[in-house]
Amino acid sequence: MLIDCHMHTPLCGHAVGLPEEYARAAAARGIGLITMTCHVPMDWGPFGQSGIRMQAGELAKYFEMVRDAADTAETFGVEVRVGIEAEIFPDESKLENMDVLLAKAPFDFVIGSLHHQCESYQLWLAENGVTEDAAIIETYFKHLTAGVRSGRYDTIGHPDVIRIYGTVADFEPSEHEAVIKNFLAAVVEADCCMEVNTSGLSKGVYTVHPDPLILDWAAEMGVKLTIGSDSHRPESVGQHFDNVIPMLKKKGFHVLHFFRKRQRYSTSIALTEIS
Ligand SMILES: [Zn+2]
Ligand SMILES: [Zn+2]
Repeated sequence: MLIDCHMHTPLCGHAVGLPEEYARAAAARGIGLITMTCHVPMDWGPFGQSGIRMQAGELAKYFEMVRDAADTAETFGVEVRVGIEAEIFPDESKLENMDVLLAKAPFDFVIGSLHHQCESYQLWLAENGVTEDAAIIETYFKHLTAGVRSGRYDTIGHPDVIRIYGTVADFEPSEHEAVIKNFLAAVVEADCCMEVNTSGLSKGVYTVHPDPLILDWAAEMGVKLTIGSDSHRPESVGQHFDNVIPMLKKKGFHVLHFFRKRQRYSTSIALTEIS
């Protein structure tokens, strides 16, 4: 079964299309399961608010929207799950409210992402005197590693997104092999997953997240993958899967993973038919 486990709704303030429209787009591309993953509400202003994420009071509406879409999509053969794109952040005190919310809301799937472009992370880097590109990149991957070890997340979203949005001038994974392999080893050890995020082919330096070299290392080390288009409009559902899925197969990945009620399931890549 073809799956796509990262997409947003208008509640984020920067996405268009209702979950049902994403489900219809999935059906048209032969995708049998999608997971909506809006940005998690955060109470600290520098994480960004209006135009970036829903407010905590809108969560009930989010669940209702996705449930309605799930009921409708069942009639045309697409399973719709409700997830959330949560934040990874080095200062745990800024995640307390998010933890309360994650503990009580019945999500199927929780992505952990470090959005370095947000004021929150830029402030952290400045306050901690991390200014050189190489140090920023290594710090970013160390924070992802800590995120993995926290046990909060089912997968780590767009793991090398540090390469876009201008935080660093350029990013060569081969120059940071040790710190990236530490991150991958932590993913394996914690029995977490890593996301292959195909939106990278539509922006920034136009390759998949993470970089194909990181995927080679991940394949060697036995990292489990989830896959997501990071769609912010229905037309993007399954974007670039026709390129990326054959590449994953060539690299030796045999299955992709998805979640229902925080339980992991796998689906064979070999049986996946791209339309
Ligand atoms: Zn977004
Ligand atoms: Zn993200």
